[in-house]
Amino acid sequence: MPVDILRKSAIMHELSIATSIVDTVLQEIQRKSLPPVETIAVRIGALSTVDPEALRFGFESIVVDTPLAKTKLEIEFVPVQGKCRACNHEFAVQDFVFACPRCNSGQIDMTRGNELDIAYLEVSS
Ligand SMILES: [Zn+2]
Repeated sequence: MPVDILRKSAIMHELSIATSIVDTVLQEIQRKSLPPVETIAVRIGALSTVDPEALRFGFESIVVDTPLAKTKLEIEFVPVQGKCRACNHEFAVQDFVFACPRCNSGQIDMTRGNELDIAYLEVSS
């Protein structure tokens, strides 16, 4: 059942990312003596190969019995943005076509889309 194996390894990937997010936030709570965290906002770039739903599932399954059990995970999806080296045009990359829509050059730098980080925490006041 190759499909099952693929699915499992995909979930493992998101699970390890969720674990690292949770570890980071728990350390932050301890270091800064933060009040209960209501929301964790994360940014996921389209190039990061993270499945938001799998990440949410992983998060919810590991925060049980931690101070983050009631914390909401907010996921901001960041589309791919490219910048042309030839003409400096910046544009949204559609359907993974990496060519400049203005001059058709293939020399593109990705300026957004690789994000995989915690954007901010919201704590109760
Ligand atoms: Zn161009």
